Amino acid sequence: MSLIDLRSDTVTQPTPGMREAMLSAPTGDDVYGEDPTIRRLEQTLAAQLGMAAGLFVPSGTMSNLLALMSHCERGDEYITGQLAHTYKYEAGGAAVLGSIQPQPVEMEADGSLDLERVAAAIKPDDFHFARTRLLALENTMHGKVLPLTYLAEARAFTRERGLALHLDGARMFNAVVKLKCTPQDISRHFDSVSVCLSKGLGAPVGSVLCGDEAFIAKARRLRKMVGGGMRQAGVLAAAGLYALEHQVQRLEHDHQRALEIAKGLEALGYVVEPVQTNMVYVQMGARAGALKAFCAQRGIILTAAPRLRMVTHLDVLPEHVESILESFAAFTRA
Ligand SMILES: *Cc1c(COP(=O)(O)O)cnc(C)c1O
Repeated sequence: MSLIDLRSDTVTQPTPGMREAMLSAPTGDDVYGEDPTIRRLEQTLAAQLGMAAGLFVPSGTMSNLLALMSHCERGDEYITGQLAHTYKYEAGGAAVLGSIQPQPVEMEADGSLDLERVAAAIKPDDFHFARTRLLALENTMHGKVLPLTYLAEARAFTRERGLALHLDGARMFNAVVKLKCTPQDISRHFDSVSVCLSKGLGAPVGSVLCGDEAFIAKARRLRKMVGGGMRQAGVLAAAGLYALEHQVQRLEHDHQRALEIAKGLEALGYVVEPVQTNMVYVQMGARAGALKAFCAQRGIILTAAPRLRMVTHLDVLPEHVESILESFAAFTRA
């Protein structure tokens, strides 16, 4: 029985073409700046985002950490959402390793941060307070796409307030495909952008942080400091390059699968949040644990969260949708 793993889009296997690209990648010692495949990946993504430089890192967590530490010094502060990955899911790294104080604010239902709420959280220039330096947004946020008009407003706001603006764009390409826009339509509003290659893009490892030359030079130094300098990692970068060349437009299929799952669940009477990209959120409440066990017997892997998240990706095939919906139907009857 082939498993259908809906926990995350990080569970994908490298595709045959990707494995081939990895096998044949030219490599070198990247700490010496001599890995041609890593350099090509960094330059390719930076160019796509219209930014001067890129930095290949092992994970999205490290990418965000380096961004926060490059924008902020000890005793500085960044503002982000209560549910933002940088705040909630990165083990407090910016505080622990960067001595950077997070200032989380409530998020809006669409994944944005109300800029008036952000304004109220900015600290006055007074030695009682941390220095507010940065606003960090996330796009997509729980599968939701931030409107381009909002990004423009956030850019104008941060300019006016003298803050830098960082994008945790782990799933930025899902937003690009959903909006049918160019990567630069999103990235041009930000000082720095972090993109995950190992989510929907399907690479086994890696993220790329992009920004201007001085910012990336600082991040490169910090990357070494936190142990993220890798050597012949061109074999990994090759997977990322392959993903950027061959596995971006197909994200549309993931979005389609998610919509089909959501519609089917609604027809079964479940309360499903509107789907925009590759995530389906369904209210399971106290039944989540039982559902997880029930589906596991049928080869469908879920988490047990009451607000259950199911994520589609390149290993969720069109024919899997029917099995998923059948399992939910059987669970409903059971
Ligand atoms: C996954 C994710 C990250 C971190 O990526 P890792 O490679 O798992 O460290 C950061 N931000 C968001 C929004 C993510 O979904």
